[in-house]
Amino acid sequence: MSKIAFVGLGHMGGGMAANLAKAGHEVIAFDIASAAVDRAAAAGCRPASSVADAVRDAEVAITMLPAGSHVRAVWSTDVVPNARSGALLIDCSTVDVESARFVAEIGEKAAFRCADAPVSGGIMAADAGTLAFMVGCAEDVFADVEAALTPMARVVVHAGGAGAGQAAKICNNMLLGVSMLGVCEAFALAEKLGLDARRFFDIAGQSSGQCWSLSSYCPWPGPVPSAPSNRGYEGGFLTALMLKDLKLAQEAAARCGAATPMGAQAEALYALFDGLGYGQKDFSAVLQMIRGRLAELGESP
Ligand code: NAD
Repeated sequence: MSKIAFVGLGHMGGGMAANLAKAGHEVIAFDIASAAVDRAAAAGCRPASSVADAVRDAEVAITMLPAGSHVRAVWSTDVVPNARSGALLIDCSTVDVESARFVAEIGEKAAFRCADAPVSGGIMAADAGTLAFMVGCAEDVFADVEAALTPMARVVVHAGGAGAGQAAKICNNMLLGVSMLGVCEAFALAEKLGLDARRFFDIAGQSSGQCWSLSSYCPWPGPVPSAPSNRGYEGGFLTALMLKDLKLAQEAAARCGAATPMGAQAEALYALFDGLGYGQKDFSAVLQMIRGRLAELGESP
């Protein structure tokens, strides 16, 4: 079993660190929020007093932080200067491809093995240890990355070299945002045409409109009992996080000159929904904005 430093014990990192500890690893945990460190300690992790303290003896160091600026700062000033020689450094946050490549470069210059490994799956998957990891790292590093991530994972996929995990993540989430909006528009049109929503679900689910947003995460309450649409759009994948990922996709597209008009529309619609105060609702709640039925979401926030 390994000594694993875990930095960033928030909504996602808390459950992830707990699953590593449950698998028998010695997890040395740090967060700037002391309450998060206390929760990690209660879940079997050893509390650290700083990032430097967490990484000093660890064979693997994992960061799970809010955004690229945090990852750049924590890796440059705390992780890379203090990690143990030969350590494997993995960032699991969702960040821009440039930040992922920047931290891999400073890590590799200091002779560390590095990987970006963002996740698909929300807080429930983090707690259950069923995240999907998309990994960017050198070919010969992947086996060790996979071994370190497995206690938190349903699947660990090698996407390519440094930054490829983040590239896969933002492309996937742009596709998800676009497909969810397509499903929402189709339900809204079906309703106006007098088509029963349940029947439309059954028909589209067996036809060429079938997709994950429809069949596994249906935004219309009823057809998929486990979907957030059946619990007031609470939990699930927050609109604010979908918007973050769509912005990352648009920034990446602008930088590399890719045409992503549907991604741009999705970003604009999610920005509108977030701006109306619904950032903390599941992203499938955008259905009610498209139907012109925001009142269905209860009191305006
Ligand atoms: P969060 O805000 O709940 O957790 C981030 C944690 O990092 C916080 O506890 C914060 O105190 C800590 N932190 C910030 N700066 C720090 C520093 N300098 N040193 C140590 N700790 C520091 O966020 P989250 O929901 O856990 O998300 C983490 C990452 O995972 C984000 O990049 C997010 O986009 C991504 N993600 C989130 C979800 C989700 O459903 N929440 C799903 C997939 C991916």
